Amino acid sequence: MKDDIFQFMADYAKYYISNPSTAPVYQEVDLNNLKNRLQAGLQESPKEPFQVIHQLIEDLEKGTINSSGSRFFGWVMGGHLKSALAADWLVSLWDQNVALSASAPSLSIIEEITGEWLKTILGLPPQASYSFVTGCQLAHVTCLCSARHHLYCQMGYNIEKSGLYHLPPIKVIVSPKYHGSIRRALRFIGMGLENLIVLPADPAGNINIEAYRYILQANQSFPQMVILQAGDVNTGEFDAFAELIPLAHKYNAWVHIDGAFGLWVNASPAHQHLLAGVDTADSWAIDGHKWLNVPFDSAYAFIRHRESHLAAMSHKESYLIHSSDFRDPIDWTPEWSRRGRALPTYAAILELGNEGIRDLIVRCCDLTKSLVAQLKESSFVKIESYPVINQALVSFVYNKDGQAVNFTDSVLQRLQKRGKVFFGGTDWNNKRCMRISVCNWQTSQKDIDETAIEIIVATNNVFNNNTP
Ligand SMILES: *Cc1c(COP(=O)(O)O)cnc(C)c1O
Repeated sequence: MKDDIFQFMADYAKYYISNPSTAPVYQEVDLNNLKNRLQAGLQESPKEPFQVIHQLIEDLEKGTINSSGSRFFGWVMGGHLKSALAADWLVSLWDQNVALSASAPSLSIIEEITGEWLKTILGLPPQASYSFVTGCQLAHVTCLCSARHHLYCQMGYNIEKSGLYHLPPIKVIVSPKYHGSIRRALRFIGMGLENLIVLPADPAGNINIEAYRYILQANQSFPQMVILQAGDVNTGEFDAFAELIPLAHKYNAWVHIDGAFGLWVNASPAHQHLLAGVDTADSWAIDGHKWLNVPFDSAYAFIRHRESHLAAMSHKESYLIHSSDFRDPIDWTPEWSRRGRALPTYAAILELGNEGIRDLIVRCCDLTKSLVAQLKESSFVKIESYPVINQALVSFVYNKDGQAVNFTDSVLQRLQKRGKVFFGGTDWNNKRCMRISVCNWQTSQKDIDETAIEIIVATNNVFNNNTP
């Protein structure tokens, strides 16, 4: 059996996912040594497949972090539901090129059905078109390419033909909560950063409506885009869609929503109100690999105006076989050859059902609250941002000679070194903070209780200058 690579993989996978809460969340290897060893791997003689895989596991496993485990709270990562992981293996096993219905008949249909299901789950308009892409970053690119086509088309330009040269610039008006991936999307698609206008907000983060109206009005001779946030990556906060979107539309602006994880709260009755009016936007970008807990990489772009989406992305060639009966994914995505990215999402939705999705979202929000409440007990912890959904910010502060000293980075380093739980840091309102993100399907109340203890122990250790 030892040389049966697939049997070996099945056994290894079982072992690897068997301890989601105890596997180390920080790498245990010297990365320079590892790099040197890996570099020496290219040799003249071939190797047995089994030997290759065995060696990869030997070399790499200790350099992985258990980010799909239940005690990983860094960035906004998510793990993988069992069915989604197994479906991802099927995608590799079947190795279909899901560009065309002709080259991937069943997986193209899966993509079509999953797109329709997602619109229902996320509360998006039924006429919206969609594409399955690698991440919210590429979902932004897909949506903004469609927006760009749409806005210029209204002015009588065909930018697919003429390019952007010599056209009036599109003014891109963004929420102060906007994510950096928006800037990168603008760079990618030739719109540049000079036309980016960040909206002013009050100290609580609410967009100043009068300034917003003024900016829209002042720029109305230009084509305009407004980009709003559904779930700020630091605080989890939402823009006031019901107020902001109609005003943008009054000035013919295209409204794009960055809902990387926040749009999922449509599944939670207690949080749904945060999304009021979001369905009136023109495009939406959402991740699957964060809160839905499907493996990397998986995200979705939705576009209200399917003809603009098609005009921006569609591709025909005489040597391809274009289906007249079924959806060809190549017409909706920036990629040509591509894997069956929708299948893990389809599996995740089947596994959870509407009820399971609701429970996942509600549970993560409740657990975030619980962790914050427990940390509040420590005299070193200051709650900088209480959870609106599944994100929160805390800082670690002590008093020295009447001065507050922020030692958040030291606490984060200590936690990483101990390797039991993982959190990331962030700058927020000129303060160094620890960001909490609970989005793993396996995280339980026990994980949260033990995580709170771990944080408090690590904090006390740092303060007392003890070794961990
Ligand atoms: C993670 C994130 C992105 C980028 O998404 P990727 O899937 O990493 O490409 C964009 N916006 C927000 C709010 C995010 O949290």
